[in-house]
Amino acid sequence: MGLFQILKQAFTAVPTFDDLNDEFYDSLEEALILADVGAETACDIVAQLRKRVKERFIGRMEEVKDALRDILRSKLEVGDSALTLEGKPAVVLVIGVNGVGKTTSIGKLAKQLKSQGKKVLLCAGDTFRAAAADQLEIWSQRAGVDIVRQNEGADPGAVLFDALQAAKARGTDVVLCDTAGRLHNKQNLMNELAKLRKIIDRECPDSSCETLLVLDATTGQNGLIQARTFKETAGLTGIILTKLDGTAKGGIVIAIAQELGVPVKFVGVGEGIDDLKPFDPAEFVQGMV
Ligand code: GDP
Repeated sequence: MGLFQILKQAFTAVPTFDDLNDEFYDSLEEALILADVGAETACDIVAQLRKRVKERFIGRMEEVKDALRDILRSKLEVGDSALTLEGKPAVVLVIGVNGVGKTTSIGKLAKQLKSQGKKVLLCAGDTFRAAAADQLEIWSQRAGVDIVRQNEGADPGAVLFDALQAAKARGTDVVLCDTAGRLHNKQNLMNELAKLRKIIDRECPDSSCETLLVLDATTGQNGLIQARTFKETAGLTGIILTKLDGTAKGGIVIAIAQELGVPVKFVGVGEGIDDLKPFDPAEFVQGMV
């Protein structure tokens, strides 16, 4: 059972405000933990709700729900959830370990930006696996955007340099750059990203650069451990949370925002090219309780 159903059930058990008791608060906390929100955050949410109900003289269940939605939203709003795209070309580096849905997300994002009238170029920066560039090329065709790639084993910095030159020459609005998914080692990752950033700063000094980490929602709290390493190393500006359709535990969105302090910017809700949604905290909590 997912976060939404669990929360709704916790409320169904308490039909009127007079029934609001410790048992309700306990079951709410349990529900949040079950939905992957994380123990500490769940405890804090319930404590805030208790306090609000008391301090604001809340006396109706609808008001309790509103207060909870408000608290959940504030937990999700840890930064701008919109993508920053400034300069020409704006640059988006996409990082994450293999298998999380990085290539798919780049393809989906390319299609989305293109449908907004932007000229998009993909950069095949994962040169460790030949298959990575091949797969990205398939997505570039699906999205109908250009791609710059080199041979397996090429220097990712050189591929990015080429892509930025091509982007400038072609009047591209956004360069979406894939990066190697096997850089588990912190030092490698840090060196690699620092190198790429240096090239972006030098070639496109007026461009914004987003660094988006792709995370698989189905890995739950384990995914967060992985994310912490990336956060420390990569200077993340946002998260793409994939496979939200594959888990009933939507609470992981709150855990990510809280534990990383980085906004979720997009969620993946399927394998198709249109299955990437911009993440809107207000809309997300609306249907929750
Ligand atoms: P990469 O190794 O990180 O580049 O991962 P891929 O983009 O190749 O994706 C790995 C698998 O996850 C593929 O089978 C994708 O179809 C699947 N996938 C990616 N995003 C989503 C999503 O939002 N929902 C679902 N259900 N599957 C996804």
